[in-house]
Amino acid sequence: MSRIASILLPMPLPEAFDYAEPEGMELNVGDQVAAPLGPRLIHGVVTALRDGTGGNRPLKPVEARLESPPLPPNAIEFIQWAARYSVDWPGQPLAIALRGARAAREKPTRVIEATGTAPARMTPARAKVLETAAAGGHMSGADLARAAGVSAGVVKGLVDEGALAVRLVEPDQRFAPPDLERPGHGLNPSQAAAADALKAMLAEGGFNVALLDGVTGSGKTEVYLEAVHAVLAADPAAQVLVLLPEIALTQAVIARFEARFGVRPGEWHSDVAPPLRRRVWEGVATGDCRIVVGARSALFLPFAKLALIVVDEEHDSSYKQEDGFIYQARDLAVARGKIEGAGVVLASATPSLESLRNAETGRYRWLRLSARHGTARLPDIGLIDLRETPPERGRWLSPALVTAMGETFAAGEQTLLFLNRRGYAPLVLCKACGERMTAPDTESWLVEHRYSGRLVCHLTGFSMPKPEKCPHCGAAESLVSIGPGVERVEEEARALFPQARIAVFSSDTMWDAREARRLVEAMEEGEIDILVATQAAAKGHNFPNLTLVGVVDADLGLRGGDLRAAERTYQLLAQATGRAGRKERPGRALLQTYAPEHAVMQALVAQDRDAFTSAELAERELAGLPPFGRLAAVVASGPDAAQLEDFVRKMAEVAPNADGVQVYGPADAPLGLVRGRRRKRFLVRADRTVDLSAYMAAWRARVRPPGAIRVAIDVDPYSFL
Ligand code: ADP
Repeated sequence: MSRIASILLPMPLPEAFDYAEPEGMELNVGDQVAAPLGPRLIHGVVTALRDGTGGNRPLKPVEARLESPPLPPNAIEFIQWAARYSVDWPGQPLAIALRGARAAREKPTRVIEATGTAPARMTPARAKVLETAAAGGHMSGADLARAAGVSAGVVKGLVDEGALAVRLVEPDQRFAPPDLERPGHGLNPSQAAAADALKAMLAEGGFNVALLDGVTGSGKTEVYLEAVHAVLAADPAAQVLVLLPEIALTQAVIARFEARFGVRPGEWHSDVAPPLRRRVWEGVATGDCRIVVGARSALFLPFAKLALIVVDEEHDSSYKQEDGFIYQARDLAVARGKIEGAGVVLASATPSLESLRNAETGRYRWLRLSARHGTARLPDIGLIDLRETPPERGRWLSPALVTAMGETFAAGEQTLLFLNRRGYAPLVLCKACGERMTAPDTESWLVEHRYSGRLVCHLTGFSMPKPEKCPHCGAAESLVSIGPGVERVEEEARALFPQARIAVFSSDTMWDAREARRLVEAMEEGEIDILVATQAAAKGHNFPNLTLVGVVDADLGLRGGDLRAAERTYQLLAQATGRAGRKERPGRALLQTYAPEHAVMQALVAQDRDAFTSAELAERELAGLPPFGRLAAVVASGPDAAQLEDFVRKMAEVAPNADGVQVYGPADAPLGLVRGRRRKRFLVRADRTVDLSAYMAAWRARVRPPGAIRVAIDVDPYSFL
């Protein structure tokens, strides 16, 4: 009997396609295959098999089964679930899941070995080489020559004569098993209580979620390391996934896992080189790699037996992927845990309101750690009212902050100046004609970067050299830089403290994981006195000698005024200020603000998170907003304004009527033009009981956008631009 294979291709297509299974191929669900699509061969995955031939329309045959482990059924189910939830095609999450499946493998290395044949002529140099080679150690020719203290020619001569031979050694792709005998840190009583509760939850088996809610520096990592240990020890096949929001953080966490389990976990983020990706991908699929530490896309890896998922810094907005396949990794982690029957631990000092609500209602177990570990105390937080004590004109650091920086420097301690803005100045304008420099095809200001001498669009990456004259009116020397970015604050700090060692930490000064690690180490080692940083440095790190955090513009995040502005600002500032005073030395944080009376600032000063979150939750509940209601956004974009207008009007007309659902819009998006495309938005609010994904899918099925128009659906949007 012939069979039909449904093959899902990693592309934006509505469904899996049918192919004929060739005689003798014996496919299984999950197999990776090559299948023809038009003139090309595409790498896809078998999602179903059934008897049949395809009827009167003969099906194209599957070309080949690929030499790579199959995707486990749970991974396929998760991909399909994620696509449905995000109202997108399943090929989109599949494309993420297959990243690494076909990446180039690590090349075999060439090593030189003694063959046992004696050379025709023996010299002292040759004898030394043979002796070194016989001692073993799998060396390349160059290393062997160096180790024997001879020239490369001597080694080559011995190879030519057959006394030495070159052998290709396949790299060891396996992951060593974790060493579960190593002791962890002794836990303090509240850590031990939290760890015991987690272990008890995991011992029950099956899907369960815990919120590990502990102040910065309370030792959440130590607690979840014990949970990881328990899971690995209970089942020799069990695997653990730890998600982190920021690649700058992965190195420190990987080091802690290495110290705890004696092996390096699998590492997964955009900066991992293809051979390691392939190795981790396959190690995860075969079950060989038991611990993965990675960024959000690690959630799509093909785990053979996933038993625990930890989402560290679970509140972090970078868990939300906004381009391509749109998803919130924290929410998907919970969904994956459910599919896998695994435990999920969400850890944060400033949990999202969604997770807090789930903890309050008992859906998640709530484990709290209210004090820092050891003698470390939370920093004292003070506000600097910029209306009363502003910085000098053209400067950004107020006298009170400068004084505190001077005291810190004099005491040999470190300062972190936090400003969540890359570059030198967020706006460049012409003082002659008032023109604001914007990108040619995008409605956003160009940010001045002094290191590179360019004006950069942070949305699209467009950049140009800073012009000599105003491109609008032609006036010379009329362009002025408005407002501060980290580079400008660094310039000011240098002028104030010429003897201090100052560095900038932002995604522009730290392009990859190695560079990030170097900066973090320099800070840990005390080689930096003042670190000027964006949020890349505000999270997770432990800098023992950091005792002062200065927030240059505490109001920055409040300005957009969207649904999560206050929540996000609170989280970011609590995290940033939480870097201070990690060891014995007490820390302090000073926040420069024009709105000291704002609820966010008051909660920070009083160190009263609960008051802030209950007030914020009460407001959300009144408005029926998340976590009490659901939201979805639609962004339609196209190059032609009239065509777009026409399309969104039609789209509004066919929005399905449903109880408990309100559709707002269409409205001009605040970012009305990006890369030459006009943008319009809808916002949909629904009661919690509504299946909003199904509603959005039904709406999408009713519209057929003309070729030039794109419609992106964002379930649970974080960006409202
Ligand atoms: P959090 O993730 O809650 O901010 P960490 O787990 O990073 O906290 O702990 C903060 C610091 O305190 C780290 O340097 C960690 O090694 C140390 N620490 C926490 N708990 C312990 C413990 N029980 N024993 C020794 N050191 C600890």
